Amino acid sequence: MGTLAPVSEPTTHRSTGETPEHGDTVPVSAQMRRAKVRAATEHTTVGVVRSDPSGVVSIACACGMLLTNGPTWSLDEHIRLHRAEARFLALAAVAPDGIPRLVAWPLEQS
Ligand SMILES: [Zn+2]
Repeated sequence: MGTLAPVSEPTTHRSTGETPEHGDTVPVSAQMRRAKVRAATEHTTVGVVRSDPSGVVSIACACGMLLTNGPTWSLDEHIRLHRAEARFLALAAVAPDGIPRLVAWPLEQS
């Protein structure tokens, strides 16, 4: 006995589908989902891509940061990284206490 340590709720919900929402029903999941949506809306690109004669292309983000290409990266790469970082920060901020993390949290300020 005790060999089948159940992994609690998410597995149950997924297999039974007995939940009003689409599988993610633990309250904190809703919180994390909202955080992800918020990060997406707060970090949409605004305006148009600008390029200057030196070859720098840039576009503004709704958060106020200017996303640009660089010597070793493209504008698209910057946008992708920026959105991933924003999503990470938003999710990490609302994730449950004690959850095992890949990145130490809170982040150290540099
Ligand atoms: Zn942004």
